[in-house]
Amino acid sequence: MKKSMLPLACIASLLIGSFCNAQNAKDTKVILITLDGFRWQELFTGADSLLVANSEYVSDTTDLKDRFWLEDPKARREALMPFFWKDVAKMGQIHGNRMLGSKVDLTNKMWFSYPGYNEILTGKADDARIDSNDKIPNPNTTILEIANNDSKYKDKVVAFGSWDVFPYIVNEERSGVPVNAGFELAQGSDLTEREKFLNELQPVIPSPWPAVRLDAFTQHYALEKMKKDHPEFVYIAYGETDDFAHDGEYDSYLKSAHTTDTLIEQLWNFTQNDDFYKDSTLFIITTDHGRGTQPLESWKGHGSDVKGAGSVWMVVFGKGVTPKGEVKQQEHLYSNQIAPTVLKVLGLKADPNKMKGKPLDISKK
Ligand SMILES: [Zn+2]
Repeated sequence: MKKSMLPLACIASLLIGSFCNAQNAKDTKVILITLDGFRWQELFTGADSLLVANSEYVSDTTDLKDRFWLEDPKARREALMPFFWKDVAKMGQIHGNRMLGSKVDLTNKMWFSYPGYNEILTGKADDARIDSNDKIPNPNTTILEIANNDSKYKDKVVAFGSWDVFPYIVNEERSGVPVNAGFELAQGSDLTEREKFLNELQPVIPSPWPAVRLDAFTQHYALEKMKKDHPEFVYIAYGETDDFAHDGEYDSYLKSAHTTDTLIEQLWNFTQNDDFYKDSTLFIITTDHGRGTQPLESWKGHGSDVKGAGSVWMVVFGKGVTPKGEVKQQEHLYSNQIAPTVLKVLGLKADPNKMKGKPLDISKK
């Protein structure tokens, strides 16, 4: 709904001079974002000393060190993710620095993608049924589906992913939530010029992987949709970091993380310059799994046999978030808390039998 469409009651109250906001402009909107398999180690300490100059994983070690290596870990992480560490650190909360006692963990024991996304999006691990990355329609109900089934959010929920399994994770068919993922093009009779251009570019720009597109496409399809239709709940799933890691390309992994930081900054700046989203949008950012604690042995992979691959991180900023910066106190959060948090913010009910995690106290001082 456009902001100009003020309810009649509001127009009446404007006429008599009292303050009024369109209801939709006041509701909290949610942008949930995931970076596939991005380690907490790089988020909190930047480039890894054991990998950044390792010619087995880096083609030009001088160039990579020029870009991302500094002796001080705080300066290093800022070089890698400047938006997170200069801006989000001031206005939001960054959880998961285990060296300071802030722990974030998965509750599923699989430690790979589909089980991770299932946990994040449904609020519950399901190791009995979600035990592969196969394209199986999710038997569980995601928060995207719960919102889309509510009259308040019907047709105001969208998902964009780089990985082509997301239509199954979200169960696009049953949920009715539109999922643009993998190498799908934007569809519809009202495509913007930019969407038409993205549709032209995507098939002719080769992706390094058969099942995952480059994140720039996911970003701009999502951004165009937000400009055009103003969905209230948007899920964006970036994929490059995990695939570059599997390929053993630490240089591309770092460059991709750096780019993703700027993509998120672009989303934030867009929301702050758009009347519909401005000052009423909550960002929640996390990852579906870690990659272990032994960089030389395990950083390329993950899964239940990789020690520490269940350790993740969480970032929140925007509407209703008390600024805490990097959380330095002892805490233990879990990925299954994200789904109930989003439902609470959207004013939707969580089924306590289906969601065991407690909503996060994002507004607590
Ligand atoms: Zn992976």
